[in-house]
Amino acid sequence: MKPLLEVIDVSLSYHAVSGETAALSHISFNLFPGEFLAIVGPSGCGKSTLLNLICGLLAPEQGVILLDGSPINLGDCRIGYMLQKDHLLEWRTIYKNVLLGLEIRKELTREKLDYIEDMLTTYGLDKFRNCHPSQLSGGMRQRAALIRTLAMKPELLLLDEPFSALDYQTRLNVSDDIGKILRQEKKTAILVTHDIAEAISMADRVIILSSRPATVQKIIPVKFDLENRTPLNSRNAPEFKSYFNLIWKELNKNA
Ligand code: ADP
Ligand code: MG
Repeated sequence: MKPLLEVIDVSLSYHAVSGETAALSHISFNLFPGEFLAIVGPSGCGKSTLLNLICGLLAPEQGVILLDGSPINLGDCRIGYMLQKDHLLEWRTIYKNVLLGLEIRKELTREKLDYIEDMLTTYGLDKFRNCHPSQLSGGMRQRAALIRTLAMKPELLLLDEPFSALDYQTRLNVSDDIGKILRQEKKTAILVTHDIAEAISMADRVIILSSRPATVQKIIPVKFDLENRTPLNSRNAPEFKSYFNLIWKELNKNA
């Protein structure tokens, strides 16, 4: 199978008046279609920088990033990006928020509107379509933000600590929810998180980055003997603990 994303020997430093910060050093990895990859690493090691490079907001100083064999460009519509804050607009209804991306791109086609209708119904947001964001729970808001991103049918979805603004209980529920949705929609995704359990529960592979400048310290394939793999089922599976210990030990080599 051909990889969807190829990150080849990528390095980047930030240059500021105060000095130079080496953020990423010789990072290489592939991502295959339908795969869910989690990236973990110490705070400040360069995780967000890496996602900003993959979506074309930054350009690598060295190395190449290819999506489907071709270079990424700024505002690449093949990529969807979801951040910690949901960035829903309070003055728009949930429905109007979900349409926003397509509206900006002038892509409000019948087919895409039908896809949105399907997702609103399937994922329980239909009855909230005329509400404003402040009337929804944190979890429902993240769902709306996800549907807004999926509506553009991105080939690759980037998630930068999307649950870290939520309290623990909500976080478990929302990550389970979003993990299920992404598997159902067969999305290829990269999740950046500093939460080891979250990474294991959602990902097919976990990449561990070293402290700054980040290098790929280890790549760990995650497999569960589960018929119906959801994040919550994974957390309860017997293999979970050994993955946790393995990644914990790797991260502590950094400390
Ligand atoms: P993470 O997401 O892993 O916490 P970041 O990718 O945000 O880390 O940042 C990596 C390092 O680069 C940090 O030391 C941060 O202070 C620095 N950094 C991030 N953005 C900039 C910038 N625009 N200019 C200078 N330094 C930056
Ligand atoms: Mg970050």
